[in-house]
Amino acid sequence: MSVYLDYNATTPLRPEVFDAMRPFLMENFGNASSLHSFGRAARQAIEAARTQIAYAVDAAPDEIVFTSGATEANNFVLKSFAQHSFLISEIEHPSLIQPAWQMAQNGAELSFLTPNNQGEITTQALQIALSQKKADFCTVMAANNETGVINDIVALAEIFHKVNPKGVFHADCVQALGKIELSFHTFKQAGGASMALSAHKIGGPQGIGALVYRRDVDLNPLIAGGGQEQGLRSGTENVAAIVGFGMAAAIAAAKQKEYHAHTLELRTLLEEGLQKQGATIFGQNASHRLPNTLYFAFPNIDGATLLSHLDALGFALGSGSACGSGKTRASVVLKAMHVAPDLSQSAVRVSLGTQNTKEHIHHFLMALNKTHTRLRNLCCI
Ligand code: PMP
Repeated sequence: MSVYLDYNATTPLRPEVFDAMRPFLMENFGNASSLHSFGRAARQAIEAARTQIAYAVDAAPDEIVFTSGATEANNFVLKSFAQHSFLISEIEHPSLIQPAWQMAQNGAELSFLTPNNQGEITTQALQIALSQKKADFCTVMAANNETGVINDIVALAEIFHKVNPKGVFHADCVQALGKIELSFHTFKQAGGASMALSAHKIGGPQGIGALVYRRDVDLNPLIAGGGQEQGLRSGTENVAAIVGFGMAAAIAAAKQKEYHAHTLELRTLLEEGLQKQGATIFGQNASHRLPNTLYFAFPNIDGATLLSHLDALGFALGSGSACGSGKTRASVVLKAMHVAPDLSQSAVRVSLGTQNTKEHIHHFLMALNKTHTRLRNLCCI
């Protein structure tokens, strides 16, 4: 038996998405910039996908720029504001933290927002940070990929906007899309400027994402060339991937409530089982959490060892940040939450998806119990 429990890392392509993409990999192969019928068909498909994504996140189609993924969308918006002062939450994805460090080396001022011990970036923390230091650009993610803890990006954007009406508030919404309600319109009204999205977390293809942005924000293209995407992102469009993203976003939006109910039921079952087995669950007392994510540890059991033993039994789990999967480095997110290093070294993550069932959870809990009991007897840390 093989059970995939790592949906925050990536998700399988939905069959409907594959069906929508296939013609654009085969007979409808036109370049969207060509003026002939092949090109026009590609252009039309891109614009239809843009409308689907706009609808899914309550934005206007012309507020969406396609990128190669959320990593690029995050880099794009951040690097548009080089030489400014940045306020970045400590729990951001490396696609924001790493370019921010690069920019700090080139003269930008960088300061960090610390989460509370549940992994939440609170409005109080933002208020205090802004009273201590000026920031032109602030970024806080909508939901954390490791803990699943949700931040109130609308309330945070509102506070930031009041202090600095000309500033830019960005939210990485990769893990929120399709899992909780997301409205760019509401975010924008509160003063928010931009959101990063990725297709492969919602049953779309890998290597495609978008930046959703307020039209008055002055973006600086990361990639210059033929002037595609309103001159903001040059390069021949990946038509099939864009079409797949559009279809995945439309389905995710239509099925969001169903997804929420399904994953929450499974997570509740899993959480009860984990508690009986003595696991520590990170961010468990946060006000709002994603329905599909559980980040936990068994004290004194090495997380990487547990993960590889479970993998051998057919269960695929995450060790924290997807991009960090396979690396044994301790989680930056848990460090920011002041989790003791020996406990954070034990952390593993289950992130559920539409294909998971109650049987998966029962089998997983049984395998987990056997594995951590055996490892404890071996005393592996
Ligand atoms: N932000 C978050 C919160 C993520 O989980 C990921 C994916 N690991 C990214 C950004 C990067 O997205 P992509 O894979 O599309 O570059």
